[in-house]
Amino acid sequence: MQEFGDNPVDVRETGHYTEEYVPSFVEKWDSLIDWDKRSQSEGNFFIDLLRKRGVRSVLDVATGTGYHSVQLLDAGFETVSADGSAEMLAQAFANGVRYGDHILRVVQADWRWLNRDVHGEYDAIVCLGNSFTHLFSERDRRKALAEFYAMLKHDGVLILDQRNYDAILDSGFSSKHTFYYCGEDVAVEPEYMDEGLCRMRYRFPDESVYHLNMYPLRKEYTRRLMTEVGFQRIETYGDFQHTYRDEQPDFFVHVAEKE
Ligand code: SAM
Repeated sequence: MQEFGDNPVDVRETGHYTEEYVPSFVEKWDSLIDWDKRSQSEGNFFIDLLRKRGVRSVLDVATGTGYHSVQLLDAGFETVSADGSAEMLAQAFANGVRYGDHILRVVQADWRWLNRDVHGEYDAIVCLGNSFTHLFSERDRRKALAEFYAMLKHDGVLILDQRNYDAILDSGFSSKHTFYYCGEDVAVEPEYMDEGLCRMRYRFPDESVYHLNMYPLRKEYTRRLMTEVGFQRIETYGDFQHTYRDEQPDFFVHVAEKE
């Protein structure tokens, strides 16, 4: 069971993510969003981008259940898979064996103290699947970005994606719409929204319901933070992947160059 207490919209803590990704939620998500479908919609966007830049080593800081780590290993990148959740890493490790005969190099590490637990320097860091949104204070966001920056080689690149929260914040809560993943199988809807919290509801075909409390990053704000932390050039791409039923992109992908 997920634990949000008596007043779920008061839960605005960076450290809470480890309690939100309970095993039943993670398993369900992983079995429904099947990896073939995901790769059809995402294509080779990230792999092409990394290859074009001559990247060899990649640190996946938001491994989750391992989707991108496995793609990266399949494509021949030296990959280290980090995540703050031990449960996620266990599932990722199993998925590595199952989907690609890979032995993932997993490290449990929170981004705020990444350099303490992960060693070395990387050509690229990826933080994908709307993960950065779990950080609830500006201090944590700056700290995490600074840790990412420090772990990149001088010409390294950070690729970080986020949901298009501007669209949800600006269109007002009344016009909120449901995002469907995997056809109609998983319905994702903002249940509560203010400038400091987006509480998303995930409804599965068996009617089970889970939530995630996330910080609604505005696109320009994320870009500004990256610049302030030292990244020299940031390019932001619009949606290319998830099912979307509106003209606005669902996701943004920021590509930030260290120098
Ligand atoms: N990238 C994966 C994907 O696309 O399927 C997983 C995305 S999942 C939405 C977010 C992941 O970020 C979770 O596995 C969570 O444990 C991790 N995470 C969130 N906050 C973190 C933090 N402060 N430090 C390390 N990992 C964190």
